[in-house]
Amino acid sequence: MSTKVVVLGAGFGGLELTTRLSEELGGDASVTLIDKSEAFVFGFAKFDVMLGWKTLEEVQSYYRDIVKPGVEFRQETITQIDPIARRVMTSGGAYEADILVVALGAEYDFAATPGLVEGGHEFYSIDGALRLREFLPTFGGGRILISVLSEPFKCPPAPCEAAMLLRQFYGEQGLRRDVELTVTSPFPRPIPPSPDGSKAILERFAELDIAFMPQKLVTGIDPATKTANLSDGGTLPYDLFLGIPKHRVPDVVESSGLAEGGWIPVSRATLATKFESVYAVGDVTSVGTPKAGVFSENAAKVVADQIIAQVRGGEAPAPYGGTGTCYVEFGDDRVARLDADFFGGPSPTAPLIGPSMETTQEKKDFAVVRRRRWFGYEG
Ligand SMILES: Cc1cc2nc3c(=O)[nH]c(=O)nc-3n(C[C@H](O)[C@H](O)[C@H](O)COP(=O)(O)OP(=O)(O)OC[C@H]3O[C@@H](n4cnc5c(N)ncnc54)[C@H](O)[C@@H]3O)c2cc1C
Repeated sequence: MSTKVVVLGAGFGGLELTTRLSEELGGDASVTLIDKSEAFVFGFAKFDVMLGWKTLEEVQSYYRDIVKPGVEFRQETITQIDPIARRVMTSGGAYEADILVVALGAEYDFAATPGLVEGGHEFYSIDGALRLREFLPTFGGGRILISVLSEPFKCPPAPCEAAMLLRQFYGEQGLRRDVELTVTSPFPRPIPPSPDGSKAILERFAELDIAFMPQKLVTGIDPATKTANLSDGGTLPYDLFLGIPKHRVPDVVESSGLAEGGWIPVSRATLATKFESVYAVGDVTSVGTPKAGVFSENAAKVVADQIIAQVRGGEAPAPYGGTGTCYVEFGDDRVARLDADFFGGPSPTAPLIGPSMETTQEKKDFAVVRRRRWFGYEG
């Protein structure tokens, strides 16, 4: 009998896990991949959607196109997870697993920040990016405030990337002089593990006339007066507020008993949870790497290798290394690379390479390679 693997969530983690299992095990495992959405979208593609550079259709990869030996995709909403029995309830039925992998990502708690829903914008969700796509061309100019509202949050460079891309956007629209851009962050610098990445961003900010306010936490906004309130008692005026919302695990994870202190604790080496034959990868965990797709993907490879070793026999695979390569948009089609390593030394490192023609091209290839690998798309 083949091993029944049920993978919850078809983001970076779920897609890589499923692909690797199919490549290595084919029909020796029966893998069920479940996601409530019909399509996958790269996080960074939300910039393209928000700025009107690509349509939603152009950045969606449809799960119905996944054709892999041993893999079945189900578009259903997961409503209950029992990690002891490894039983999952969905809008479409019930699943029992020999091995269960939770890769359900992080969701947003918009209501956690007073005023955000009523008077703010965000680009972290597809809906938020679509709303901004309508709004940005109509914005007559003024102060744009981009604020990180809590941490951890996905893709630590993203708020700064948004500022640089917005500068490009309004430059292209002939509004450049009318837009003041400010980023606030609870961190002391744009990307804490990367001193040279942070320096490069701040130098680019100086060139583009973008202000960075470190160690400032916006606790709420008042849409009536267009004022952001800071945790230190200060205020900041804005005309357009873009918030990076508070993140949290999906409700179904919260009610499953898998999460502790907000996220799912896992073994740093194996990504195993405390429940037998239940793993968790990616943003849904507190493994100690940033919430970014490349880390979810690398963690998924480790879990896949353990499942393969279990099914086929053989040596235990290498532990999760906590590494990931992220790309940072500097605007005007300039992209740099961060080679991050969170577990290799006494403290995390993330040296910056580029921006250069090569690193800009690498980011384009990043999406192409994964769409081909996960969905079989060419181009
Ligand atoms: C603006 C922006 C830019 C980014 N840029 C980068 C970047 O350059 N590089 C990078 O590596 N990362 C980037 N990220 C972060 C990246 O998108 C996430 O960290 C990554 O998607 C996490 O992968 P994951 O597999 O853990 O979870 P996800 O990709 O979030 O997948 C989780 C899946 O679970 C599904 N799901 C959740 N709840 C349920 C339920 N109840 N039932 C069924 N399905 C459910 C969701 O639909 C989703 O498909 C960016 C993010 C943003 C917002």
